[in-house]
Amino acid sequence: MAGNATIAAPGRSLPVRPAVDIVFASQIESPESWLPRLRDALPGDRFHVWPDVPDLQAVRVALVGEPPAGALGTLPNLKLIQSLWMGVDGLLADATLPCGVPIARMVDAGMVAAMAETVLVHVLDWHRHLYRYRAHQSESIWRRHRQYLASDRTVGLLGLGALGHEAARRLLSFGFKVCGWSRRPKRLEGIESFTDLDEVLRRSQVLVCLLPLTAQTRGVLNAAAFAKMPEHSCVINIARGGHVVERDLLGALDSGHLAHAYLDVFETEPLPAAHPFWRHPGVTLTPHCAALTEPRTAVPVLVENIERVRRGDPPLNLVDRAAGY
Ligand code: NAP
Repeated sequence: MAGNATIAAPGRSLPVRPAVDIVFASQIESPESWLPRLRDALPGDRFHVWPDVPDLQAVRVALVGEPPAGALGTLPNLKLIQSLWMGVDGLLADATLPCGVPIARMVDAGMVAAMAETVLVHVLDWHRHLYRYRAHQSESIWRRHRQYLASDRTVGLLGLGALGHEAARRLLSFGFKVCGWSRRPKRLEGIESFTDLDEVLRRSQVLVCLLPLTAQTRGVLNAAAFAKMPEHSCVINIARGGHVVERDLLGALDSGHLAHAYLDVFETEPLPAAHPFWRHPGVTLTPHCAALTEPRTAVPVLVENIERVRRGDPPLNLVDRAAGY
C-alpha cells in the first residue's frame, strides 16, 4: 500500500486516506449481515462481494468464512486474509490458500461472552443434576440427588486462549475450581495451569474442550483420556467435532464411566439423522451454536485491521500457520 500522500492546496496540505479494496468471500456468512455496518464505518473504501470483483489486482483485504476454493489465489496483491470466525482450521485446510499472505482470525467480544455463557449453562446443568431431573420427569420419577457446592467441583479447560480464559473467569466467579491445559506454560490468577494433559484429566469432573483443531489436538478426547478422568464425570465439547473420537465417547457413556456429554460440534455436520448421539440418553446436543460471530461487536475488529492494512501496520490476531491456529 502507498503511505499517506498529501494534496497540495493553497496555504496547506491535507493527508489523503488511500481507499482500500475489500472483497467479502463466504459461502456461509451473508454479506447483508456485515456490509452495511462496514460501509458505514469505512465510507471511503470499496467493498465487493465475491465473485463480483471488477479488478482482482486492486483487492488488498479478503473477509472470509469458508471462501470458495481457489478464490483467494486469484488476488495477486492481497495484504490480509481476515477470517470472520475464531476457528481457522477449515481455512488452513484449503490447499489453494496463497502462501505468504498474513491471516488474521476473528476475536470477537460478543462471541467470547456467548461462549462463556454456554460453558456456564452446561456446567451448571451437570452440577445441579438438571440433565438427570429432565430424564426423571419424562418417567414421572420424584427423586432427589445429593447437592454439591461449586467448590466441590473441578472444571478442566482444554485451551486457555481467548475463549478458555474468559470461561475460566466466569466459572471462578461461581466458586468452581478451575484447571486448564495449554501448549505453552501460563500463569493465570486462580487457575491451575498445565502443559501435561494427564494432570488436567485426572482432576476434571467436568472437561470443557475449547481447543483449536490442529494435527496435535485432533482426537484428543478419546478412550485413553476418558479413562483418566474421575468416575461419573462429564465432557463438554464446544470446539470442533474432530476433537472427539465419537465411538470412544459412546463407549465411555454406555459403560457409565462418563455421566453425560454436552456436544455442539460433530465430525459430520449437520449431524446425520441416524447418528446414535441424537437419541443417546447421556447426550445433550446443540447444532453448532455454542457461540456465533456477532457482527455488532465483530465489525469494529475488522475495521481496526483494515485501518492497519491502510497504514502498513501489522494486523491484530495473526494466525501462526505452522502451529495451525
Ligand atoms: P485461541 O485463543 O487460539 O486459544 C487456543 C488455546 O488452545 C490456547 O490456550 C493454546 O495454547 C491451546 N492449544 C492449542 N494447541 C494446543 C496443544 N497442542 N496442546 C495444548 N494446548 C493447545 O483460541 P480461541 O479463540 O479460544 O478458540 C478456540 C477454538 O474454539 C477455535 O479454534 C474454534 O475451533 C472453537 N470455536 C467454536 C465455536 C462454536 O460455536 N462451537 C465458536 C468459536 C470458536 P497456547 O495458549 O499455549 O497457545
